[in-house]
Order: sequence, then C-alpha cells, then structure tokens
Amino acid sequence: MLWLGLFYFIRVNFIQAITPMKTAQYRLIDYPEGRRVADFWQLSHDPVQQLASGQVKLRVDWISVDPGMSGWITNKRSYMPPVKPGEVMRAFGVGEVIESSCDTLTEGDVVTGFTGVTTHAVLPARHLRIVDTTVAPAQLYLSALGMTGYTAYFGMTDIGRPQPGETVVVSSAAGAVGSIAAQLARQHGARVVGIAGGPQKKAFLLDELQLDAAIDYRNEEIAAALKKTAPAGIDVYFDNVGGEILDAALMQMNRHGRIVVCGGISQYSDWEQARGPANYMQIVTHSLTMQGFTMRDYMDRISEALTALFNGYQDGSLKFRQHVLEGIERFPEAYDMLFNGRNQGKLLIKIT
Ligand code: NAP
Repeated sequence: MLWLGLFYFIRVNFIQAITPMKTAQYRLIDYPEGRRVADFWQLSHDPVQQLASGQVKLRVDWISVDPGMSGWITNKRSYMPPVKPGEVMRAFGVGEVIESSCDTLTEGDVVTGFTGVTTHAVLPARHLRIVDTTVAPAQLYLSALGMTGYTAYFGMTDIGRPQPGETVVVSSAAGAVGSIAAQLARQHGARVVGIAGGPQKKAFLLDELQLDAAIDYRNEEIAAALKKTAPAGIDVYFDNVGGEILDAALMQMNRHGRIVVCGGISQYSDWEQARGPANYMQIVTHSLTMQGFTMRDYMDRISEALTALFNGYQDGSLKFRQHVLEGIERFPEAYDMLFNGRNQGKLLIKIT
C-alpha cells in the first residue's frame, strides 16, 4: 500500500514537472469601434513564458477593472499605445512573485503593475512596484491605495485646489475615484455635492460619505438639481463623466472656477465620436480653468499620495467600497458593469 502511494506521488510530481505551466488570459479580438458589446475578448489558455534575465514570474491574485480600458482598446493616439488585436488585455494587477531571475525581487514578494488580464505573467522586474501587505491587504493597492486613490488625490488637491467654504461638485461620486475625491474636498473644508445614479448611491453619498448634498442624476433634472444643491455656484467641478452633466455644471461655475477633467465615461462607448462641452463659452465668460490629467503626470509623487491616503485608511477616516467578482472568466461581465452603473465602488476581480 505504502509503495503504491509513493508511486502515485512520484508520478504526479513528475507529470507536473514536465508539463509547462499554463495561464488563462483574455486576449483582444478586435477594436470595438463604437460597438457597445463586451465580447471583444477571448479567453485563451497558453503556456507561461520562460523567464529571461531581469524578469519575474507572477501568480496574479487581483486585477482592477477600469473605465479607462475602453481607451486602451481604441486605435487612436492616446497617452499610451493601444492594446493590439491578439494581445493580452492590459490591466493593473497585484500578484506574488513565484520565480525570479533578477536581483531586486524574490519569491514571495507581492508586487503591482500592468500584469494584464491573466492568471500568470512574466514581466520585467523594473515595471513592477513592491507593496507592503503587512499594513494593508494586497487588493487595496489597486483601489484606495493605488492608481484610483492617487488619481483622486492629485486631481482634487493639485488641480481642483478646494478652499474652505468653496463649493465642490463631483460626478460619479459613489464610484472608486469620485468617492475619494469627494472626501478629500471635504477634508479641505469645502462644501461638497456628489452626483451619482440611483437612490441607493445617493443614500451612500449622504449617509456614508456624509457629503453636504447629493443628486441622483437618473431621477432628477440635473440643471435644476445643481441650482438647488449649489445655490452659491460651483468653484470646483471634478468631472468623471462629461456629456450633459458637464454641460449643466459649466452653467453653474463661479468666476475663476476650476474644472478637473478626470474622465468622461458618458462618452466612452465611442472615443472617436466623443463630444465636447456644449456650454464651453462659459470658460471665457467666467475665466474658468479646465484641466485634464493622467497619473503619468504624477509618477514621481506617488509616495506623497500614498502617505496621505494611507493615513486616512489607518485612522478610518477614508471610506471606500470595493466590488469584487471572483474568477478571471468574469472579466467581460465586469467591464460591462462599469457602463451601466452596476458596480458599487472600485471594481476588482479576484483571480485566485
Ligand atoms: P467608477 O466611478 O467606480 O465606475 C464607473 C461609474 O460611472 C459607474 O458606476 C456609473 O455610476 C458611472 N457611469 C457610467 N456611465 C455613465 C454615464 N453615461 N453618465 C454618468 N455616469 C456614468 O469608475 P472609476 O474607476 O472611479 O472611474 C471614474 C472616472 O475616472 C472614469 O471616467 C475614468 O475614466 C476616470 N479615471 C481617470 C484617471 C486619470 O488618470 N485621469 C484614472 C482613473 C480613472 P452611476 O451609477 O453613478 O451612473
């Protein structure tokens, strides 16, 4: 009996050793070009690449699902090259080093970077940043303590620069970036109005985030609701959505107001046909500043944002929600959720 057990043990380990490790990954089939369907990707099972010098092999544990992915699958000049048909879909991820051929990372290190929508990845170590999972769970480095939090931090504190007593309006305020941006504005002493879709999200803004006012743009007329909730006008508008909400906010801006163009999700179904603001002459007549940004502008200041956000996480003053789906095969469904508002907070996929 003992010999039989030993035989099977050796056989299983031998088979594992000679069979190349496989990874499940979503590859882009084609550019969507204005089509609103989520199946632009195909799940493939491929052998994991061999390590070259300076690279590490990762087991990807979590990936972040971001509205900005729609821009990465658009064949148009942008802040980074598009994902090409046939390539693994780009995504931020967090994972553990399971093999290393570099001096800077070793097995067991937890790292973050562009892992892709995949269960395993082989990447240059220099493209990854080590994270400390003894002070916060790994997935938080994709949400409040990752790009999401940094985007809210720099957009609000560097570009919006809210002053005590000013009125700040944030769209998609119940979402990942918006909820943090709104809380940061309150910390600066501003009066904050959040805009989100549906009564549940509106209640979250008032009850959990304790914002001064909230608008449910799906059930309220946006221009009238802005007049009512921001009677003294808007000093800072943190824009995540563009379209009609941006048009309405422009009409309420105070002189020398700042518009932070963080994103424009209402226009993401077709980046080629995205429309600009209808009321843009307000920029002239009210001496407004309208500034866009990406995190690329702030890469050398990440530690500043991380420290500020970590302090809020540690003392419990920074509130955030994470919406977790399990299994890589749920990626197309997750992507679609962002565009119909079915996510409640930072959308993540737990891979393992
Ligand atoms: P999120 O807000 O957590 O999720 C997206 C939300 O957008 C949905 O839940 C939905 O909320 C809202 N939405 C979808 N379609 C809409 C429409 N047609 N009109 C109005 N709202 C709509 O996502 P996030 O990751 O925090 O991203 C928010 C924005 O920040 C996006 O525009 C994104 O591209 C941008 N962003 C920019 C940077 C940068 O570096 N500049 C980095 C990260 C993210 P409702 O239920 O409230 O409608």
